[in-house]
Amino acid sequence: MSTTTSSENTLIDRGRTALRAIIDGNLGQWIGGRAVTGTGDEIGLISPSDGTVIGSLSAASEQQLNETVAVARTAFNEADWAKDAKLRARVLRRLADLVEADAEEIAYLDGIEAGKVAVGSVEEDVPDVAANLRLSADLISRDDGRFLQNPDGWGWVTKVPSGVVGAILPWNYPVAMLGWKIAPALAAGNAMVVKTSEDSTLSALHLAKLATEAGVPDGILNVLTGTGAGIGAAMGLHNDIDVLTFTGSGPVGRSFLESSARSNLKKVSLELGGRAGYIVDSEHATDFPTIAADIAGAAFGTSGQNCTAASRVIYVGDDDERFAEFRTALIDATEALIVGDPFAADTDVGPVINARAHERITAWIDEAVEKGARILNTGADVPDTGTWYPPTVIEGVPDDSELGRGEIFGPVTQLLRRNSRDDAVDLINGEPYGLASSVWCEDIAQVRWWASRIRVGTLAVNGYSEGTEATPFGGMRQSGFWGRDNGPEALGTYQETMTVWVADT
Ligand code: NAD
Repeated sequence: MSTTTSSENTLIDRGRTALRAIIDGNLGQWIGGRAVTGTGDEIGLISPSDGTVIGSLSAASEQQLNETVAVARTAFNEADWAKDAKLRARVLRRLADLVEADAEEIAYLDGIEAGKVAVGSVEEDVPDVAANLRLSADLISRDDGRFLQNPDGWGWVTKVPSGVVGAILPWNYPVAMLGWKIAPALAAGNAMVVKTSEDSTLSALHLAKLATEAGVPDGILNVLTGTGAGIGAAMGLHNDIDVLTFTGSGPVGRSFLESSARSNLKKVSLELGGRAGYIVDSEHATDFPTIAADIAGAAFGTSGQNCTAASRVIYVGDDDERFAEFRTALIDATEALIVGDPFAADTDVGPVINARAHERITAWIDEAVEKGARILNTGADVPDTGTWYPPTVIEGVPDDSELGRGEIFGPVTQLLRRNSRDDAVDLINGEPYGLASSVWCEDIAQVRWWASRIRVGTLAVNGYSEGTEATPFGGMRQSGFWGRDNGPEALGTYQETMTVWVADT
């Protein structure tokens, strides 16, 4: 168990001030450049670390959503934002600086509300938001069109902003997912209405304030706190939202395709779940402890609540002794993780998001064990209060169990073994999900073999990764639909292509 030391206290002090600024005035909405109170039902904010009530905020009502979309539409039509790419690039770079300056506030808010390990937020999530904002500013500064001419005339093909973008976010990487959506959508010149997850809204509200300070015109970036069934569903059906970008679960993602068809045919971009594999090609893998430590990070970071979490470790090789060595290394790496206080500097793994998630994870493991699966590691001691599940490595999970089929979204990984590489490829490609996977293979020719056969959006080699802000992120098969986050590809999610043709008369 980790404990908080005095060196983490500044982060906590700064974070609490930011928290109070939102909670004390019940300021759960950022609309038209200012903080306002929701007119919907109350949402209680509960800390997953100890189960205490952080406070409550009034949700946005459907009427407030309609007003906010109207505010965004007016800002899109009237502010210089949509027309002035230089202004956007300048403001987004300024926002990147402000986000970095408030890394501690943001880390605290994501830590208290979503159980995010603060050191990870400060070192990874916040820099990722800043990097995304700067990349999007760079990209939009040179987002050139095409000039054409022929004997009949001349013209150009250009990209224009889509209009009003709705974004619906999950809770697992609150500020990072916000950055993945707002950086390209704002850079492209859109106005936005963001609905945070009801489990993690505070960092987005803080960042919206920073956006206004940075010079984002009033009404261009609005953040609403509200429920999925309430304003989330209403956004899907809204007739004045042009693009809906969503990161979350498959069933909710599917509902937006239906809502689009039933409303204004808004473009829908979906980043959905995953069930990533981590293949260890034992013939080309030398240092099992190093590999196992990487797998433990990939499987249990953010308590496994990550759509690219390594939920199946697939060892390829027929030597029993080496497999036994690898198995021990994986157990050791899992048992070495420090589970505890998200604000302590040495913590690796925090709590799971809420009681519902805890119940699901427990039920799936219990079912798998009843059907013959074996837990391999000794579970870490976890606090009595809050929603904690220890990192767990499990073997022999039957295919006909929930864990054998579904996305656990918790700190659990299965160990599997296959004698042939083709069988390992079939395991990955046979999944309905195709978001990401990893392979450890120290032979470059063999890496090419793996890469030419595995079909996922991101394949990490010799180290778990989701790529960088410059590489597109999104899934094949049922892990996604249409757009991509990150990289130049993300801009296109929020743009329309327009041709202007001038006749020679
Ligand atoms: P979720 O789908 O329950 O919720 C995501 C968002 O959708 C929340 O804002 C929620 O309020 C809203 N929502 C819920 N029900 C809704 C409804 N009926 N109509 C409209 N909106 C609704 O998902 P979650 O539990 O927040 O996140 C976990 C899921 O997200 C996992 O499946 C995970 O794999 C996926 N995820 C995917 C990625 C990716 O990039 N592919 C990243 C993170 C999480």
